[in-house]
Amino acid sequence: MGVETERTVLLRQLKDYLVFLRDQGMDRVPLTQALETRPPAPNPAPVRPPGGEPTDGERRPAPAPIPSPEPVSATTETMNQTDASSRLIEVRNELGDCTRCKLSATRQNIVFGSGNPNAKLLFIGEGPGADEDAQGLPFVGRAGKKLTEIIEKGMHLNREQDTYICNIVKCRPPGNRDPEAEEIDACKPFLIEQVRAIRPKVIVALGKPSASTLLGRTVAITKERGTWHEFDGIPLMLTFHPAYLLRFYTLENRRAVMEDMQKVLEVLKP
Ligand code: SF4
Repeated sequence: MGVETERTVLLRQLKDYLVFLRDQGMDRVPLTQALETRPPAPNPAPVRPPGGEPTDGERRPAPAPIPSPEPVSATTETMNQTDASSRLIEVRNELGDCTRCKLSATRQNIVFGSGNPNAKLLFIGEGPGADEDAQGLPFVGRAGKKLTEIIEKGMHLNREQDTYICNIVKCRPPGNRDPEAEEIDACKPFLIEQVRAIRPKVIVALGKPSASTLLGRTVAITKERGTWHEFDGIPLMLTFHPAYLLRFYTLENRRAVMEDMQKVLEVLKP
């Protein structure tokens, strides 16, 4: 990879950030600090002749007092929602133009996550594929379409409103290989912070690398799918990755995933 200029790096960071904000449903850039607002500059004072009377331009009415803002009332829920969103933005900012592992050398875009920061249901996959890397968004390729189908047709939920989706590593492993241990270790602190920002009611681990990362041991996904565990105090369901379903598109596997999702729906019930 050629040496990047500071400008190139800044532009890449800005692009990543804007993609992230768009993905959070924002149509404008939030400011973390209030801009210094000043009243518009007055017209230049007319020049008074020495010893002369003030001109009309100098006899200005005193500026009207600025009314105090109405106290803002916000429910705890609204504040929590804002907190989740703001915290996710902070985590994304902390990640920056990350070079903490070697996946940074081959990625096009960091794929941070997408969906509702206040979702009750969080899906965690293993890593971005080629389509995700190109678009900077998770689960937008064939496996993503399968996941959307599971969420919308199988669970009767809305992907954007009811779920948040991310991966254990935010950059594409070349050739879609499994992420390596040191790559997972480098990226995992950001995943943990995402989970803590969202605080979902249920997490679903999609596939073996995700399940193994979240449980800290090697998971035999074909044996352990459909079983409940816990991650950071949150109920964790293990199931097949949608890419596995596409590869082994059997009635048995499809049924298995839908059974797992039914269990999730039971826990999500209000
Ligand atoms: S995979 Fe994670 S730790 Fe590695 S470069 Fe990408 S964002 Fe950084």
